[in-house]
Amino acid sequence: MRRVYLDYSATTPVKKIVLDEMIPYFTEKFGNPSSLYELGASAKTDLNISREKVAKLIGASEREIYFTSCGTEADNWAVIGSARLKKKYGNHIITTKIEHHAILHSCEYLEKNGYEVTYIGVDEKGIVNLKELEDAITSNTILISIMFANNEIGTIQPIKEIGEIAKKHNILFHTDAVQAVGNVDINVKELGVDMLSMSAHKIYGPKGIGALYIRKGLILPSYMNGGAQENKRRAGTENLAGIVGFGKAAELAKEGLDEHIKKITSLRNYFIKEVLDKIPNVYVNGDLEKRLPGNANLTFEFIEGEALLLYLDMNGISVSTGSACSSASLVPSHVLDAIGIPVEKIHGSLRFSIGDFTTKEDLDYTVEVLIKVVDKLRSISSVSNEKGW
Ligand code: PLP
Repeated sequence: MRRVYLDYSATTPVKKIVLDEMIPYFTEKFGNPSSLYELGASAKTDLNISREKVAKLIGASEREIYFTSCGTEADNWAVIGSARLKKKYGNHIITTKIEHHAILHSCEYLEKNGYEVTYIGVDEKGIVNLKELEDAITSNTILISIMFANNEIGTIQPIKEIGEIAKKHNILFHTDAVQAVGNVDINVKELGVDMLSMSAHKIYGPKGIGALYIRKGLILPSYMNGGAQENKRRAGTENLAGIVGFGKAAELAKEGLDEHIKKITSLRNYFIKEVLDKIPNVYVNGDLEKRLPGNANLTFEFIEGEALLLYLDMNGISVSTGSACSSASLVPSHVLDAIGIPVEKIHGSLRFSIGDFTTKEDLDYTVEVLIKVVDKLRSISSVSNEKGW
C-alpha cells in the first residue's frame, strides 16, 4: 500500500545527512563536553559549532542560544522563568487563547501560584488584534507570550508589531516559534523578541532536543538545578548527538529556506485547490496568506474527523485532527473554537501538513482517497443536512 505522510507539523523524519552527522557522537566522539581532556574539549567545540548554526537560523548570536530537552521545556522555562525574574515588578502575563499547551499549562501553573493571566482572543482568521493586546496591558504586566505560528491552523502572527508594543511598555516578549522556525525567515534582532522557543524535530532533526533564544543582557533564572552547563543556565549533561543533529538540521534549513517555502507553499495551494474543487462543503480554516507554507487545516462538513482520519490511515495516509498532543482526546480543538468554528464543524476538521518529502503524486492520491471516503462517510452520516447526505 502507498504510504503518504501528511503530518509534518507533528514531527518530521530525521534527514539522512543529519543522522550521518550525529552517529559518531554516540560512539567514538562520545565525550562529555564538561570533561577537561581532549575527548571532552572536542565535544565542547562541536557543541558550540552547532550552537552557532542554530543561532544563524534565527539571526541570533551563539551566546544567546540555550539548548533544552525540547520545545516544551523552552516554553516552560521562558514563561515560568520570566515570571520569577520579574516578580517584584508585577504578576500579570498576557498570552493568547490559541497557544500550544506548553504555554497554556505553564500559564495555568502560574495562575495557581499567584499570577494573573489574560488570554487574548484572535479574529476568525486566527490573528491577534494588536489593539486588544495593548488594551490588556496593565502596570503589572511583566510578560507577553504569543506564538509565532499556530500548530493547528498555521496562522502567522504580527510578531514585529507585538515586539514594538512590548518594548514601548518595557515588557518582556517571548514567542513560541516551534512551528515557524525553518518555515519562515526569522531574524530575532529585527523582530525585537526577548525569548524564542524552537525544537529540532520539526525541522528534520531528532526528537528530544530544543533551544531557547534568550536575548543578550536578559538573565533568565536557571530552570534546572545542577551543573554549570549552558553558561550555568540549564544544568544537565548535554544531549551532544541531538545538538549536533539540531545544528545540521538548522544549517540545512537556513540554506534551503527560500526554496523550501516556495516549493511547499505551491504544493499546499495545489492540494487545497484540488480538495475544494473536487469535494463539496469543505472549508479552509485560518488566514490564507499569513500562514505556514505546509499547513492545510480543512473542515469537512457532515463528517466526524476521527472517522475520516481512520479511513485515511487504512489507506496509508497519516494526518492529524489537531495538535498531536491533544489528538488522543475528543475535546474539541481550543484553536478552532477560538476562531469561532461551531463544535460540530470542529469535529469534522483535519490538519494536513506538507513537508520536504511530499510529492504532487502523494497529494493526488490523497485527494482521490478523500473523494471516496468523504462520500462514503457522508452517506452514512447521522448528521442531517439539507443536501440529503
Ligand atoms: N509549541 C508548538 C507550537 C508546537 O507545535 C509544539 C509541538 O508540537 C511544541 C511547542 C512542543 O515542542 P516539543 O514537541 O519539542 O516539546
